[in-house]
Amino acid sequence: MMKTPVDRLHDSLAKLVAAAKRAKREAADTTLIAVSKTHLAEAIQPVLMAGQRHFGENRVQEAQAKWPALKQHYPDVMLHLIGSLQSNKAAEAVAMFDMIHTLDRPSLAEALAKAMQAQGKSVPCFIQVNTGDEAQKGGVALAALPACLTHAQNLALPVIGLMCVPPVDENPAPHFALLAKLARRHNLKELSMGMSSDAETAVALGATYVRVGSAIFGARG
Ligand SMILES: *Cc1c(COP(=O)(O)O)cnc(C)c1O
Repeated sequence: MMKTPVDRLHDSLAKLVAAAKRAKREAADTTLIAVSKTHLAEAIQPVLMAGQRHFGENRVQEAQAKWPALKQHYPDVMLHLIGSLQSNKAAEAVAMFDMIHTLDRPSLAEALAKAMQAQGKSVPCFIQVNTGDEAQKGGVALAALPACLTHAQNLALPVIGLMCVPPVDENPAPHFALLAKLARRHNLKELSMGMSSDAETAVALGATYVRVGSAIFGARG
């Protein structure tokens, strides 16, 4: 029989539990974010009914279209912004999301701080690090991380951790290990790393959030 998204959610969770066990970590210390970008509310609903509460979206507008209605039935949903954010959408992102994984420049830090202050809402943020120093990739350059972090902290932004998306054609493990080392160096607790293809590797290297899309919802159109 064809597996459903709920079957695949349970498979993904079981793999993460096994990976945590192999790494001698507590499975509860890693949160699976189900990345529902491009998938319609009808596809998301059964996954919510199965008890999944953390979801990731990469666009503010798409989240605004889908999630308010779903949240009426599941008010304890935690929505994660995992896509790049334009500063002029910062206020909407702060209103919509519970965590932002893609803080990657000083101007965005300023826009987010201003929006959080105006809305009286504190949204935990990850600084996205361009661990592969790729030209087209979001994330702060490795050399710019210390200044970016200090700047965000001076704005009283709640920076809780680091996030990365390794280059597609490379072994992700060294990137995850580097991100973990940087988080330790800067005293940050959370690590957002690992996607469908490498979530177990990420757990082995200390991920506290993994972002799993296609392994649960299937290929995106
Ligand atoms: C789409 C996306 C994911 C999920 O990717 P899959 O390979 O489908 O698991 C994770 N993180 C980010 C930043 C993404 O854009």
